[in-house]
Amino acid sequence: MSDIELSGRGAIVTGSTSGIGLGIARQLARAGANVMLNGFGDADDIENIRATMESDHGVRVGYSGADMSDGVAARGLIAKAQAAIGDVDILVNNAGIQHVAPIDEFPPEKWEMIIAINLVSSFHTINAALAGMKARNFGRIVNIASAHGLVASPYKSAYVAAKHGLVGLTKTVALEVAETGITCNAICPGFVQTPLVDGQIDDQAKVNNMSREEVIRDIVLASQPSKRFVEAGHIAETVLFSVRPGGGILHRRLPVDRRGLDRRGRGAQGSVRTDIELHRGVRLERVANVSAVSGGHLVADGRRIADIVLVGAEDDHEEKRGFV
Ligand code: NAD
Repeated sequence: MSDIELSGRGAIVTGSTSGIGLGIARQLARAGANVMLNGFGDADDIENIRATMESDHGVRVGYSGADMSDGVAARGLIAKAQAAIGDVDILVNNAGIQHVAPIDEFPPEKWEMIIAINLVSSFHTINAALAGMKARNFGRIVNIASAHGLVASPYKSAYVAAKHGLVGLTKTVALEVAETGITCNAICPGFVQTPLVDGQIDDQAKVNNMSREEVIRDIVLASQPSKRFVEAGHIAETVLFSVRPGGGILHRRLPVDRRGLDRRGRGAQGSVRTDIELHRGVRLERVANVSAVSGGHLVADGRRIADIVLVGAEDDHEEKRGFV
């Protein structure tokens, strides 16, 4: 049971027929929100997910197969959600795809599709949803970026460009709405084992001439501080935390001193402030990843949630401090 109460709130989660998005949608429904599902898949499976979510949690759940690579369809999703579940208070931009290839072999149509789905669709949904949020002076926008919104990896040029763009879009929107009751945050998780990552493992194995096991050990988990996959449920918990009506994390500056970090961004000395309470029972435990934005592990109730970084607007204004 969640201690965050969202009953009567309306939430859209793009790309929520699978993986992380489905976990987020379920978590929001569990907290009492009416939810609009979106994404592709088998029609019967999706209807089963929709109906089960409705009956399990006693909320309204709608579905639209709007294609997030199409700006008109992405904008139209807001009106469809309004008709199906009521006002859109929470917008989670999660739909995303991946393709792995060296840049000189990267198919241009794949590049454009990744930019359209992983970045441009979020402009369209935010642009269409914001008027209603402003009118009600309440809104929670959460963009599911990635660790690749902060750092790069070879062979992922389109994905890295789109996710860096999504982090930039998040910061800009956050600044524009900072004086209202609306917040905009990005979540930048490490690897989660979903269909999207399974496809990448196969692609990386091909590009690097490695086995799947080698790719998981030497590429995927090598860069993950915990050496484990992040769990989709932990990202859903982080979304829930960032949409809670009472506050939201954007307007809190979290002082994470970058001094004392080694070149890989690992906190090695006492000057790194650790164990900062973000919210009741949720703490930032240690700095794990520092580039433009400092980050860390979120720990809830003494349990490490994930290798997740949250970014907001204020990190642009402070040179010596990170914003998680
Ligand atoms: P997934 O493949 O399991 O789910 C992707 C979802 O997006 C599905 O519901 C799919 O139907 C939907 N989708 C794809 N193309 C779409 C389109 N054109 N229009 C509408 N919906 C579309 O992937 P996932 O791993 O759950 O990824 C979800 C998000 O999390 C993505 O934005 C991804 O970049 C991000 N992310 C994933 C990881 C990871 O390791 N899996 C890590 C960091 C960030």
